[in-house]
Amino acid sequence: MPALDPIVDAHLDLAYGALTHGWDLTLPLETLRQRVHGPYRPTVTLPALGDAGVAVAFATIFVDPERYPGHEEAKQAALAQIERYRRWEAAGHVRIIEDAGMLRAHLEAWSHDQKPGLVLLMEGAEPIESPDELPEWKRLGVRIIGLAWRTTRYAGGTGGHEGLSPLGRDLLAAMADEGLALDLSHLSDAAFFEALDHFAGPVAVSHANPRALGWSPESPVPANRFLSDDELRALKGRGGVVGVVLYNRFLDPTWTAEKPRPSPELVARHARVIAGSLGWDSVGIGSDFDGGFGADATPEGIESPGDLRALSKVLPESHAARVLGANWLRWLGSWL
Ligand SMILES: [Zn+2]
Repeated sequence: MPALDPIVDAHLDLAYGALTHGWDLTLPLETLRQRVHGPYRPTVTLPALGDAGVAVAFATIFVDPERYPGHEEAKQAALAQIERYRRWEAAGHVRIIEDAGMLRAHLEAWSHDQKPGLVLLMEGAEPIESPDELPEWKRLGVRIIGLAWRTTRYAGGTGGHEGLSPLGRDLLAAMADEGLALDLSHLSDAAFFEALDHFAGPVAVSHANPRALGWSPESPVPANRFLSDDELRALKGRGGVVGVVLYNRFLDPTWTAEKPRPSPELVARHARVIAGSLGWDSVGIGSDFDGGFGADATPEGIESPGDLRALSKVLPESHAARVLGANWLRWLGSWL
């Protein structure tokens, strides 16, 4: 059997789902779906990633500020999520990737065992008390940090207007010193441009769609959750990748659960807008599966990791393998 091209999904809130909903993500997806009562259909489990040929996922440490409003609570919640990832690794479900050597060894092993590799991404820096803690978070495995989800002490986030705080600038300097990457997703417009100016290290957007197609004034989601044309242009020359989110309301702001699910062709339209600014080497997938929406809020026929490969049917043939994985692997290999 010919080897399948590796898929990379740049945004999955795996530990958050496991700890917040009590889902056992070590189960096959169908088993988990049978166990979850109510209308919500989960989208991703660890065996589903393996079976799908997802070689690497960026696995988030996500702390909901409404549940953990203070720094200390946020920190404990973040540590619990890292502990869950380490437990999955110890039980043989995943490999956690911390450097370029581990990435190479993982991809070699993956071609035989299809075990998913995880790169830990902190979504919102609230758990980090101060920039001097950064070596400790790096030791725990964190490799990519997004400064904000909603506005944090570090930066303006989704729906916010603040830029970077002085502490945010210090955190970016410490991230550059530690060789960590910056995820620009969720930043306010002001914070996005200031962060790009202040941070000389590797940048990417793990999960965000172009504003041109993903937002309208009637959209319930704030405009700055999406990438403006100026933001896309500003990324040019930085070597980053943008992950397209597979959430119907981020693909079509008028979508509601009563409407038919959009065709996967809409995913390709978003990909083409990103490629139009940055080239096809900068387009990836950051599905955000189960990041607040289930399998019924994804495009028709794309409702689990096993369906990701089908996106190659709507992407340009010569770019599909790069969009589905190779672009993110090249980005990781350039700095990890
Ligand atoms: Zn997010």
